[in-house]
Amino acid sequence: MFSKIADRFKHSLALRLTAWYAGIFVFISCVAFVLAYFSIVAILQTQMDEDLVDDVGEFTALMGSGGIERVKKEIILETQGKEAQQAFFRLWTNQGDLLATSDLTAWPELHNPTDILKQVQDSRQPVLITLQSEQHEYSARSIFAFIGSDTILQIGESLEESEDLMEALLYGFLVMLIVVVLLGGPIGWFMANRALHGIHKITRAASEIKEGTLDQRVSVSPQRDELDKLAYAFNSMLDRIETLIVGMREMTDNLAHDLRSPLGRMRAAAEMALTQHGSKSDVETIAAATVEECDRLLEMINTTLDIAEAESGAAKLKYSDVDLAILLNDAVELFQSVAEDKAIMLVANLTIQCHIQGDRQKLQRAVACLLDNAVKYTDQGGTVSLALLHADNIKIFIKDTGIGIASDEADRIFERFYRGDRSRTQQGNGLGLNLALAFVRAHGGDIIVNSTPGQGSIFIIVLPGQVSS
Ligand code: ADP
Repeated sequence: MFSKIADRFKHSLALRLTAWYAGIFVFISCVAFVLAYFSIVAILQTQMDEDLVDDVGEFTALMGSGGIERVKKEIILETQGKEAQQAFFRLWTNQGDLLATSDLTAWPELHNPTDILKQVQDSRQPVLITLQSEQHEYSARSIFAFIGSDTILQIGESLEESEDLMEALLYGFLVMLIVVVLLGGPIGWFMANRALHGIHKITRAASEIKEGTLDQRVSVSPQRDELDKLAYAFNSMLDRIETLIVGMREMTDNLAHDLRSPLGRMRAAAEMALTQHGSKSDVETIAAATVEECDRLLEMINTTLDIAEAESGAAKLKYSDVDLAILLNDAVELFQSVAEDKAIMLVANLTIQCHIQGDRQKLQRAVACLLDNAVKYTDQGGTVSLALLHADNIKIFIKDTGIGIASDEADRIFERFYRGDRSRTQQGNGLGLNLALAFVRAHGGDIIVNSTPGQGSIFIIVLPGQVSS
């Protein structure tokens, strides 16, 4: 039974929080009471001491005006009837001889306070003490002080009132403590459950996702407290996972689709080589075509993997200082011969110096993809030009006078495996722009396209600042 409760306690945050709330509640109440109690005790005692000092002052004045006999009379007056239970007076000479007392019947335990008298005689300052007695239910506070040059007065006053008050306070606190303990549990339980409500929602959503519904989201209230932020982060994580999973599904579907035809072709070619018993050169031609086909397939698979890696953030960028003007010049050099073959003019306007912290290889590949397309989709006699600008951010312009892109296609050209209708005559796998975009986005940038069908296109790679030129 006990181990069951301990087990439940261990596994329930709500229970543990409740215990903490109740414990802290009770602890703070105890500390507050103890502080309040001792402060009140100190205030009452100071009050009583001040009253006693005032009384001594009055008796000193009386002694001065009426002498010792006037003081004795006053003592008897002050302790008449029931008052004798509450206060007592004793008068001593400077030598310690008792001169007079009030009615001491209610104070039988009073002894001769030689030490204190000596202390007063030596210091000539009032001395205050608290008297405890077994005969009396209450303590008494007492003062010894000179009221004349040769007379010491002792006044004692019962602490009945203040001790009764403190006792009432103590009972009051005990009742309050019981109420706090009784209420602390339910209040703690209520607060813990309120605080954990958001977590329960997230747990429920996570459980449903476990069962396969990835479109499940946790509702976020407009309060925007810590739990809402957790819910928001959880939803963003799910969005990201969903995008990745959908992307992966699409990619595998497309890959399967795109692998089927070349594999079929390779199989048919190999079968032909086996069954037709052609000449050596026929077999060599088939083998060469198969190798070419394999290379294209490998390139496609590798590009797909590079895109997936860049998009998932798994591909770590190898940062270094990249001089973009040099990078673009190298790219122009690389494509110069292809452009010449097609009688396309390839020009670069790279007058500014522009450095960036980035992954040189990935930036090179992104630029190469765009340049490859520009040359590929521009007819003979056209122009492809490159320019570099940097202001708030960096812009690399790749402009061509090629076939252009129809407005309904412009939205789709960055999709994986998408190929424009008029591009089918050219070689390609529909992965170039997707790869370029993935690499540029990995650098925190983007690619913008502006195109007019029949007139040409302009692709702009936009990279974020931190430029040093
Ligand atoms: P691929 O060139 O292999 O078809 P890409 O992903 O590089 O694949 O490009 C996707 C599509 O975008 C192309 O099929 C083409 O229709 C269009 N495209 C890309 N660049 C250009 C360009 N410079 N001019 C005209 N069309 C372009």
